[in-house]
Amino acid sequence: MLTVKIAIDGPAGAGKSTIARIVAKRLGLRYLDTGAMYRAVTLAALKKGVSCADEEALLRVATSMDLEIVFEKETKSNLVYLNGEDVTSAIRQPEVNASVSLVSSHKKVREFIVALQKEIGRQGCIVMDGRDIGTVVMPDADWKIFLQASVEERARRRQKELQRNGHAVDLVELEEQIRQRDHSDSTREVSPLRKAEDAIEVDTTHMNIEQVVDKVLAIIKGADEDV
Ligand code: C5P
Repeated sequence: MLTVKIAIDGPAGAGKSTIARIVAKRLGLRYLDTGAMYRAVTLAALKKGVSCADEEALLRVATSMDLEIVFEKETKSNLVYLNGEDVTSAIRQPEVNASVSLVSSHKKVREFIVALQKEIGRQGCIVMDGRDIGTVVMPDADWKIFLQASVEERARRRQKELQRNGHAVDLVELEEQIRQRDHSDSTREVSPLRKAEDAIEVDTTHMNIEQVVDKVLAIIKGADEDV
């Protein structure tokens, strides 16, 4: 059987999950939001009062939690269950946003989560989005897309997303958070955020969702004249 693996990487707010989900839907593939897994570990740690700087304690949290990512066929979205509770919205809270980069920077936490992601990747056709999918999780992906956008535009998108979920957050504060997240994601020792050498970069700053989806599908179908 022919397997199709698509890796979509990029910084926070570049549009990865929205685009990856739609591309998966159009191509009839499974979709995995890998950031949701680090977010779930972060939420579990916050709930237990575990310090997000304590690598050993975080590893215990990660290995003992019951994490279930349910792939919804209809919407192609991921529902996230932590110890039986639906935390799909809870993992997007500002408290989790503020700590997830630190949690995901710990080597032992990453090794554990990456092994789970690799296993999911081995199970067949999939679109995965994250920071290190093309470089570490699925270096053998058939297509690697790296989405980019300016910090200002990414902050505006995050603000809209948070507003939809009932959280009012100042735009300047969000820009600062995104800059910090970019910095810690790209300078961490283990699997830093970086474009794979064979990835194709798409700058989405001035593009709407449909335009980005069309561009990515054109790349996959080999019909993109700009690449
Ligand atoms: O994609 P999302 O913003 O939900 O990811 C949350 C955080 O999880 C990122 O800022 C990053 O620190 C971490 N992450 C990661 N590797 C991935 C996916 C996410 O380090 N593959």
